[in-house]
Amino acid sequence: MKTPPLPPGSTIGIMGTGQLGRMLAAAAAKLGFKVIIYGPDKTPPAAQLANEHICASYEARDALELFAQKVDVATYEFENIPVSTVGLLIKYGASVRPGHEVLEVCQDRLFEKQFLQKLGLMTAPYWDVKSPHDLEIALKDMEGSGILKTRRMGYDGKGQVRLGQGDDPQTAFKACGGVPAILEEFVEFDCEISQIAMRGQGGEVSFFDPPHNLHKDGILHQSHVPANISLEVSEEARHLTASILEEIDYIGVLTVEFFWSSRKGLMANEIAPRVHNSGHWTVEACVSSQFEQHIRAIAGWPLGSSARHSNAVMTNLIGEDVKGWSDLIKNPHIALTLYGKEEARQGRKMGHTVETSPL
Ligand code: ATP
Ligand code: MG
Repeated sequence: MKTPPLPPGSTIGIMGTGQLGRMLAAAAAKLGFKVIIYGPDKTPPAAQLANEHICASYEARDALELFAQKVDVATYEFENIPVSTVGLLIKYGASVRPGHEVLEVCQDRLFEKQFLQKLGLMTAPYWDVKSPHDLEIALKDMEGSGILKTRRMGYDGKGQVRLGQGDDPQTAFKACGGVPAILEEFVEFDCEISQIAMRGQGGEVSFFDPPHNLHKDGILHQSHVPANISLEVSEEARHLTASILEEIDYIGVLTVEFFWSSRKGLMANEIAPRVHNSGHWTVEACVSSQFEQHIRAIAGWPLGSSARHSNAVMTNLIGEDVKGWSDLIKNPHIALTLYGKEEARQGRKMGHTVETSPL
């Protein structure tokens, strides 16, 4: 349903309080909105940039009702917000964009794969694994190798076990937490790209140029734009992503991670119903960033331009990398973003840099 654009001064509610929430809050403030964030952490990154932080669990009904009353539109910055929480917000009168249907798909790797295949997107071959016995059978089918991924709650490569010849299914199933999982065939891709796209309330769709993503230890390390892919591949990524946005009448920014193999084509890996780490460069290199586009879309504003005016390389600062800040600030050509996190734990995303160059 198309509603009139929210006027500046309205309040945007963000469920989740991490760095994505922080950058969404900054974009909302830029456009003259107030921001309330919601989440259980006491001193989270997004609280430093928001007008208000409702610090409560995702099950706290009173706090959810208060949040729903205070905000003009609510959104989320991560996909593991319980679906029932979003249901409660809607019950308490909040408009939530994007809606809760997409969460049900994206929170479960099996549902996600089924959804992608139903829409005609190619994925890595996979097996539904509910027990060590299922895993044993799946591994036989896959000649002993593959990636076991928990169906739920995985991120940054967590909840994944890589299996090779001779690995024991019992041990692997246990190492993955003994929970329902999928076994995926190991894809020999040429590169990984992500298509970040957005859809406004009038149904208009816009796309950022897909970056080429490099991972280290299962965590995104760098995103490069332009990616080293042909125009045809880029157009296909757009087309496939648009089919998802339209199928679910999506409002806001959504990202599809793809593997590209010249032999097999584009395979969808996963969908993130939100702004994405591989799109942080859009702040420095595009007219409207992914954060601004998301706020525009959920506020019922027309989308801005996703055109890119520079090439860019985004590099994540993980854990102790952030200790290099004093050297990074000496280079005037490096745009540094820090997330205001106190403790540089191993594997924790602490900030990122973006280096741009002329097109
Ligand atoms: P993130 O939060 O970074 O998106 P995640 O934990 O949700 O990660 P995936 O995106 O599925 O998990 O996997 C992380 C990375 O592991 C991928 O970006 C890719 O580099 C590698 N990977 C995952 N699945 C496969 C596969 N089937 N074949 C080859 N590599 C894979
Ligand atoms: Mg991923």
